[in-house]
Amino acid sequence: MRLLWVLSLAGAALGGLQLVSVFTEAKSAPQQASGAAIALALAVLPYCLARSIQGLTGGMDSDGALDRAAADSGRARRCPHCRGVISQKASACRHCGRDVQPAPEQQDAIG
Ligand SMILES: [Zn+2]
Repeated sequence: MRLLWVLSLAGAALGGLQLVSVFTEAKSAPQQASGAAIALALAVLPYCLARSIQGLTGGMDSDGALDRAAADSGRARRCPHCRGVISQKASACRHCGRDVQPAPEQQDAIG
């Protein structure tokens, strides 16, 4: 997943270089326009690809995955108002700010 973001960064850098070289080397307006379009595609396409794959895989690099992992392991729970992941001991939701009932102590909880 991280590779895709590196790729999109490289694409953006490449697109920037392409844009500069097009405007220094192109001899006519159509050449400039097509060069600029290629630069835009270089910059945007890898980003779109990375975003869409991240969306399909559930955003493994985002906080969402960490939140889900925390919820699954029993250290967190979901806010009844906005379904955001919050701590077991939270008395207010950090996402929507509304008050929530602190969860009762679990018998098998560690710490
Ligand atoms: Zn909430």
